[in-house]
Amino acid sequence: MNVILLGAPGAGKGTISKHLVDKYSMVQISTGDILRNEVKNQTELGIKAKSFMDSGDLVPDEVILGIIENRIKESDCKRGFIMDGFPRTIAQAEGFSDMVGRNNLVIDAILELEADDDLLIKRLTSRRTCSNTNCQAIYNVLYQPPAKEGICDKCGSELIQRSDETEEAITYRLKTYYEKTQPLIDYYNGGSNYHKIKADLPLDEIKASVDSIIK
Ligand code: AMP
Repeated sequence: MNVILLGAPGAGKGTISKHLVDKYSMVQISTGDILRNEVKNQTELGIKAKSFMDSGDLVPDEVILGIIENRIKESDCKRGFIMDGFPRTIAQAEGFSDMVGRNNLVIDAILELEADDDLLIKRLTSRRTCSNTNCQAIYNVLYQPPAKEGICDKCGSELIQRSDETEEAITYRLKTYYEKTQPLIDYYNGGSNYHKIKADLPLDEIKASVDSIIK
């Protein structure tokens, strides 16, 4: 089963992806995580992507499509993949549609996580991420704090606030989302595999909605 997760920053795409990975052994493909890893390793791609990411702009479509084309050919994707944070523009969606056809793949479900801006801003500014790139566990100082403040429960590394998760950066990322990514909702909506999920509910209820669709 292959799934696309749509939704604004902070809607819970990462959390729901991890749920699908744990429960159904699917593979999470997060373009944000891939790019952050490239930035951390100071690769050519990472150096190019960093300025876009820091300002809350989107990395150019052709760069992202290249990353995805390589990633979906890796053998673990046969277990089924979850696109987390991709596609983010109509051009990416069209490029991906061609890629899906060329590689004889099927997208079984497109899940849109819906939440209000106030909640998105609150969730993102209180988010903390493990600084260890092999772990990258996500916490929330309001809703899911670590046992020891500032320290990852899983690996003991320091927790950090991402530079694109300050209130100013988030406001800009939301603007980018509404301009560039929200048009995808109309692009995909209406298909029989398109499902809207309310993402302002307790996590267990969101997971239950997702499970009922996947099943
Ligand atoms: P995320 O963690 O998914 O919110 O992504 C963090 C940042 O990485 C975004 O603000 C963009 O700068 C960049 N990024 C991630 N995915 C994409 C994408 N599909 N297209 C363009 N830029 C992306």
